Amino acid sequence: MSPDVRTDLDAIPAYVPGATVPGAVKLASNETTAGPLPSVAAAIAEAAAGANRYPDIIARALVDKLADFLGVQPSNVTAGCGSVALCQQLVQASCAPGDEVIFGWRSFEAYPIVARIAHAVPVQVPNRADGSLDLDAIAEAVTDRTRLIFVCTPNNPTGPAVSRTELTKFLDRVPERVTVALDEAYYEYLRSDDAVDGVAEAMARTNVVSLRTFSKAYGLAGLRVGYLVGPADLVTPVVKMVVPFSVSSLAQAAGIACLEAGDELRSRTDAVVAERTRVREALLASGFEVPESQANFIWLPLEDRATAFNDHCRERLVITRCFAGDGVRVSIGDPAENDRFLSAAQEFVTVM
Ligand SMILES: *Cc1c(COP(=O)(O)O)cnc(C)c1O
Repeated sequence: MSPDVRTDLDAIPAYVPGATVPGAVKLASNETTAGPLPSVAAAIAEAAAGANRYPDIIARALVDKLADFLGVQPSNVTAGCGSVALCQQLVQASCAPGDEVIFGWRSFEAYPIVARIAHAVPVQVPNRADGSLDLDAIAEAVTDRTRLIFVCTPNNPTGPAVSRTELTKFLDRVPERVTVALDEAYYEYLRSDDAVDGVAEAMARTNVVSLRTFSKAYGLAGLRVGYLVGPADLVTPVVKMVVPFSVSSLAQAAGIACLEAGDELRSRTDAVVAERTRVREALLASGFEVPESQANFIWLPLEDRATAFNDHCRERLVITRCFAGDGVRVSIGDPAENDRFLSAAQEFVTVM
């Protein structure tokens, strides 16, 4: 007889890691092509020499630096083992078994998983036809059991961002007892006129938090560090859910160095934004449908052709992320990588 384990975990899909194919261009996981900024790599190397010691359990130096950088108090900030860990801590901190967590769909793959792990019920609200979140429908889905709403903006994997005007209207509708988490993993790639600044929203309301990460624009996906900003009354219970020492000393040092790097980052994100426009326009010209993206990826809503397109790209050594029956997400890489992807995509049109 085998030991009793939770049978409800059968509902959690197995995670499909981004494929590694020798010689292939990796456009499946929204990483940066370049390594960490040189000043950050140096800080990591220095911290590595002290890896025999446990890290600061509350990452105080990083939290203080973030608070200073964002113009908030240290009590408004906590660091986590990537912002995905903070998503999980947030569900654990806000939900009792059976409580509901609402989010748009399709959106970040982790939301239904972290909800189920915490014995909460994921509630998926379909996106609008252009891939944007349907905030009206999300607000209408709130029930007495709702405790948490994830608003992923820009939305992974579809690309559109919520405008500040839309968000204000939405937040005014959501009951204050419900926490709204603005997942801003791609914040540094936003270039819209009416852009949301989640940290400002979080500081202006009692029930809003912002989640950000060093994994995407800062190029530290392998190191695992992200942060949550919000009212101290929400930060405190989230901190209680942390696995002790989950932000390593290398990650803490790297985060601090990122915040000191300043302008170095902006030129990198500007280059990605320029490529995002170029790739999207080339795809539109080839006849693909591509929602406007504010992140470092684009989305092709290919529906029943998604798997064929993904396989076609892989045969040409371009690795993309397939959501079978729905679409394909393609990260924006450097110009040469994007050219390889574009020629594969254009070839797909002709063989289709
Ligand atoms: C990548 C991503 C994250 C989290 O990344 P971490 O590496 O865990 O910091 C969170 N939300 C969204 C929408 C993402 O795409």
